[in-house]
Amino acid sequence: MNTKILVSLLLLLSSVPEVYSQEDNTKVVLITLDGFRWQEMFSGADPQLITNREYVHDTTALKKRFWRETPEERRKALLPFIWSEIYEIGQIHGNRALGSKVDLTNTMWFSYPGYNEILTGKADDKRIVSNDKIPNPNKTILELANKSVRYNNKVSAFGSWDVFPFIINEGRSGVPVNAGFEIAKEENLTEREKFLNQLQPIVPSPWSTVRLDAFTHHYAIEEMKKNHPEFIYISYGETDDFAHDGDYGAYLKSAHTTDALIRELWNFTQSDGFYKNKTVFMITTDHGRGTKPLDTWKSHGGDIVGAGSVWFIAFGKGVSPKGEIKNEKQLFSNQIAPTIMNVLGLKIDKDKMPADILDLN
Ligand SMILES: [Zn+2]
Repeated sequence: MNTKILVSLLLLLSSVPEVYSQEDNTKVVLITLDGFRWQEMFSGADPQLITNREYVHDTTALKKRFWRETPEERRKALLPFIWSEIYEIGQIHGNRALGSKVDLTNTMWFSYPGYNEILTGKADDKRIVSNDKIPNPNKTILELANKSVRYNNKVSAFGSWDVFPFIINEGRSGVPVNAGFEIAKEENLTEREKFLNQLQPIVPSPWSTVRLDAFTHHYAIEEMKKNHPEFIYISYGETDDFAHDGDYGAYLKSAHTTDALIRELWNFTQSDGFYKNKTVFMITTDHGRGTKPLDTWKSHGGDIVGAGSVWFIAFGKGVSPKGEIKNEKQLFSNQIAPTIMNVLGLKIDKDKMPADILDLN
């Protein structure tokens, strides 16, 4: 062996540990389901709504799919991945019937303030007071990660709602955000991305500002397969819009589908060497909805009682299996951002992100 080869071999060997230590870093998949109530999360289909012809086209068919005698059976029929696999390996917070509470700290109880709180770690009731397309003056954890040396160009976001490029302040943060009716625009598109780009404009969405979640999901999973982001945010939107439409059947079916999409994401990460055993999933919602009077299930906002109550799920690397949290415990949505900063090993500015890190061990 000549010296040149020996030197390059030694260089190669010495570079291996660093590569591995980077790869061992925990990856984060943050997911939100817009306006999905804790009531359905923990009790499945609501008895007063699933039988209500005002909100359900075909009550017989819907009951067949999602009605069961007990809340435990109902939630498992509605969200089988969450209530079988995640229940075994993760933590499900927010069943207020058992004393486990998760609440927003913002008082607006609608989407932009909710996402701002989740993504920045601090409510901003002075400046974030509408859903208008205003570039967020606050920095999200996606931006902080993307601006760090460690995670630069390893962060991405996908959302069904077209306000996300503003919430994440795509221009300032440099975080690529594919949201609303955007198509994939990179150069080396995969065959599936090309197909999604063809399909999205010809499949009509019921809404003008929110696309169907299947597009958001599949663009996101293609990105994970192709570029392996270390921190990805996926925001599903259908649940909120079907609820505003007063279509309880579509609201339930969408939640059921999203549960399967999350299963697909998890199974992908566990089959991919980059993510396997190194990835933590955190899932939550931007706000709750009403219960009384009955028709307030369609709405949310500061004047709707209970719309500030949410839920939180974590599973994967570093999360101990506690299943459904059954003790008195109060968590807040502003704790999610510092918890993710901590998982990523990024420094937390306590002025900007004052809440305690969640103890998921
Ligand atoms: Zn809404």
